[in-house]
Amino acid sequence: MGNLVAIVGRPNVGKSTLFNRLTESRKAIVQETSGVTRDRHYGKSLWNGVEFSVVDTGGFVQGSEDIFEDEIRKQVLIAIEEANLVIFVVDVESGITDLDEAVADVLRRTKKPIMTVSNKVDNHNREQDSFEFYNFGLGEVYSISAISGAGTGDLLDALVAQLPEVVEEETIEGLPRIAIVGKPNVGKSSLTNALIGKDRNIVTDISGTTRDSIDTRFNAYGFDMVLVDTAGIRKKAKVHEDIEFYSVMRSIKTIENSDVCLFMLDAQDGIQSQDMNIFSVIEKNRKGLVVLVNKWDLVENKETNTMKEFEEQILERLAPFTDVPILFISALTKQRIHKALEVAMKVYENRMQKIPTSKLNEVMLDVIEFTATC
Ligand code: GDP
Ligand code: GDP
Repeated sequence: MGNLVAIVGRPNVGKSTLFNRLTESRKAIVQETSGVTRDRHYGKSLWNGVEFSVVDTGGFVQGSEDIFEDEIRKQVLIAIEEANLVIFVVDVESGITDLDEAVADVLRRTKKPIMTVSNKVDNHNREQDSFEFYNFGLGEVYSISAISGAGTGDLLDALVAQLPEVVEEETIEGLPRIAIVGKPNVGKSSLTNALIGKDRNIVTDISGTTRDSIDTRFNAYGFDMVLVDTAGIRKKAKVHEDIEFYSVMRSIKTIENSDVCLFMLDAQDGIQSQDMNIFSVIEKNRKGLVVLVNKWDLVENKETNTMKEFEEQILERLAPFTDVPILFISALTKQRIHKALEVAMKVYENRMQKIPTSKLNEVMLDVIEFTATC
């Protein structure tokens, strides 16, 4: 499992500028054809041969310009829980504000490595002003200019040195790793329970090395696979669910740790920004993907056209990906849930074989057609 670095701080200090510099990405990629704007708040960084993932926590929060103290505290708490290292960005132009204090207050209580970054140090005169940030009592202050890149090399040197050693999750060699992901209430627990049920004989818990991550070996009905991080699914963290980016943060490691993602959507909602944020993580990690449109039992008008319309809508949002299998399932009535695993296995096997894309398209089209008609 790789390391995850979270960038926290109040609005306008330069988090997203720093994120872009670390991941060398543009903030948004506009899909000309579909008019879909994909914001990027999650990316990969490579420095001195060390790879890590970076999340801009501020980017996940819409209308974050007028964020309240309570909200930012929660954000920072989540970042601390999920990340291995936290970058705390402050703005040398404005000095310390109340919101900065609120963030620092939460950060002081963790043992995880924190790096305080004084941003907008565009010239030497401002370097002295950065000293103010030692008052946080959070150790070394790194002066940078995210816009010009000045100081970011030193910051990255120090960051890579502080990252914890990567601990490999205990796993069973050679078994496909399948992750069930999606926004809150989409039906992840219901699907997990529908699959593994109460029949404890068909599953084995494999405790992970990280706190409360449990993989489950699913060995039944002709399948032998590992369902990744079922603890995160079964044990519900209701506390944080009002925070939109919690589910994204929570699913990052699960996705990184898998081969194929069962990406769940709610048939009643279509595909929304929160879904897109999760999809973006799957895409960035180039994982195998199966889209499951859940709660299909609640859709009254189930003509073939309804499915086709749904499919088109989803594929438009996922463009340029066109070879994504989409299944319409119900975790409640267990409709097509084994089919979902079958398709996941097909995707897995295809990835293993690295067969030509044209062939892959063919196989996937068959799957889509088959599922659309059953
Ligand atoms: P965020 O809200 O924390 O993500 O902040 P942004 O990255 O959106 O930056 C807020 C504003 O500060 C933007 O206008 C940036 O261009 C500006 N900014 C970011 N980094 C620097 C910097 O190093 N120097 C200066 N002068 N401006 C910066
Ligand atoms: P999670 O937060 O993604 O784990 O979602 P849950 O599994 O807890 O499901 C959230 C709610 O949706 C619960 O009330 C479930 O009973 C309901 N639900 C889940 N799957 C289905 C489904 O296929 N059909 C219907 N009608 N309800 C479902």
